[in-house]
Amino acid sequence: MQGDAIVEAKDLKAYYITKAYGVERTVKAVDDISVSIKAGEVYGLAGESGCGKSTLLKVLLGDFQPPLTVVEGSVAYDFEGQTKDATKLSEQDKRDIRWNKVSYIPQGSMHVLNPVRRIQDTFHDFITTHKGTSKSQSYDMTRKYLRDLGLPEKVMRSYPHQLSGGMRQRVTIALATILWPKLIFADEPTTALDVVVQRGVIQLLKDIQQKEGSTVVLITHDLGVHANLADRIGVLYAGKLVEEAPTRTILKSPKHPYTQFLINSLPTFEERSAREGIPGRPPALDHPPSGCRFHPRCPMAIAKCSSIEPKMLELSPGHRAACHLLEEPNHAAA
Ligand code: SF4
Repeated sequence: MQGDAIVEAKDLKAYYITKAYGVERTVKAVDDISVSIKAGEVYGLAGESGCGKSTLLKVLLGDFQPPLTVVEGSVAYDFEGQTKDATKLSEQDKRDIRWNKVSYIPQGSMHVLNPVRRIQDTFHDFITTHKGTSKSQSYDMTRKYLRDLGLPEKVMRSYPHQLSGGMRQRVTIALATILWPKLIFADEPTTALDVVVQRGVIQLLKDIQQKEGSTVVLITHDLGVHANLADRIGVLYAGKLVEEAPTRTILKSPKHPYTQFLINSLPTFEERSAREGIPGRPPALDHPPSGCRFHPRCPMAIAKCSSIEPKMLELSPGHRAACHLLEEPNHAAA
């Protein structure tokens, strides 16, 4: 593992393998991805729906079951010098690690709150399971944590239906992080929220990350959210990591044509009309295109793109991308 990494995937291949009526189907959702996430950073995973972001997150989290199968590679955690392979966690390991060290904010998490329990009792149920606290200890811990995060104390006695969607989402994030995990995985935490509420959720995640120096792995298709929160961004296309760089670098100077499309399709403040999206559709991952998987949609494709897979190239320290154009100075992507 790299010295400052807290979680690192090496040559990771995670496929959905199903068999029906004697026919095996393999969906290559994560196909040969290596990524190293540093302690204390916010790492954003970007890409269209179906690009493998959520699958990669499940494997990094060590929470997957058939038909999702790790067919090759490894995912290593480093918690204060203790390493563990996340793809081979025992049930006991999972109990020891989950929520204390590794936490997960799933998609649509605002709906996980128990509708017939007051928020303070949901927190107590959760905290006492892991810490064996009394009710008053759990309540004290919850009150302090909500106060630290700037959430109103009155939510403690509320039922979920008495809170707005945005507040429910913030309460759920507080619940998932109250045990101060070192590593937080968040899957589309701002989806379905309006812009103002999104800002509150982004700020809350920032506060949590900064107060405890936690590492956050953030999935969202919304590059605007990454721009606000992530230190580095990895862009996935059809199960492959195609570009990775510090956020500022990737937004200002994307090198992979797919990343350029993603960024160019972002609306700007001055524009009133919608911008053009990326032409075509992402490929089916049971029969991904040969060569560069983006070639059927790439207007800059050259002859070898359809047959030879581009290698990941280090373009500058911390900036890497996989595109044939970047191998040839004359053709370098703009
Ligand atoms: Fe486009 Fe070829 Fe680069 Fe793939 S390798 S992004 S097809 S130019």
